[in-house]
Amino acid sequence: MSGTGRMAFIAGNWKMFKTVAETSAFVTDLRAVVAGVKGAQVVVSPPFTALHAAAQAARGSNIEVSAQDLYWEKQGAFTGEISAAMIKEAGATYVIIGHSERRQLFGENDTIVNRKVQSAIAQGLTPIMCIGETLDEREHHETLAVLDRQIKGGLEGITSDHVATMIVAYEPVWAIGTGRNATAAQAGEAHAHIRTRLRQWFGGDAADKCRVIYGGSVKPDNIRSLIAEPDVDGALVGGASLDVKSFADIVKSSESMK
Ligand code: PEP
Repeated sequence: MSGTGRMAFIAGNWKMFKTVAETSAFVTDLRAVVAGVKGAQVVVSPPFTALHAAAQAARGSNIEVSAQDLYWEKQGAFTGEISAAMIKEAGATYVIIGHSERRQLFGENDTIVNRKVQSAIAQGLTPIMCIGETLDEREHHETLAVLDRQIKGGLEGITSDHVATMIVAYEPVWAIGTGRNATAAQAGEAHAHIRTRLRQWFGGDAADKCRVIYGGSVKPDNIRSLIAEPDVDGALVGGASLDVKSFADIVKSSESMK
């Protein structure tokens, strides 16, 4: 752990990949490879159908499980949706909220993100709340304003104590699944800005404890330069998290850098 006191947090976002059988095999292999990792939290995010299998395969290991989304109501006539309590019962402890694919493909906005964050916290799940600008917004110099809007909207009404335990994932949309990662300087600038806003709006303790992780084409060969930035506390990894070796390499590099 670095002088910041924040342990590195590395989460794999599997998106709509891996069956139950593939999940069990992956987690079984991964747990052997990361068994000695003490300086980084290791999280996998399978599809809903494989959450339970992931949690079972991870039992007694240092691997934790996250869902990729939730619905904010506790129960009811919401065909196709999954509640926070259902996710928790399946064995997950985290939930990704507001991923740019949800925002872009499924019309989620900051109000919806906020409802989901509230619901996750109320049911005892830790949110991994994703924020980030599009290429168009970056080119129009709107990055920091977009981040402000998403932080403010997503965390509306959330207490400082809860913000302190949360994960905020800065994921520039133009870097997700494109092979074009943000440079360390670009990530460093955005993360420092996010930390400043957390400090202004939620106080020093929340800002110092909240992990702000980077996502967008993270690979074993670029994680070191990204995580060397003082305000980059880890990574949300898509494509490179689908392979045990590349994901474990990212975890181990992060551990040694923080
Ligand atoms: C993601 O899905 O959150 C992500 C960052 O994907 P990738 O690593 O493939 O860019």
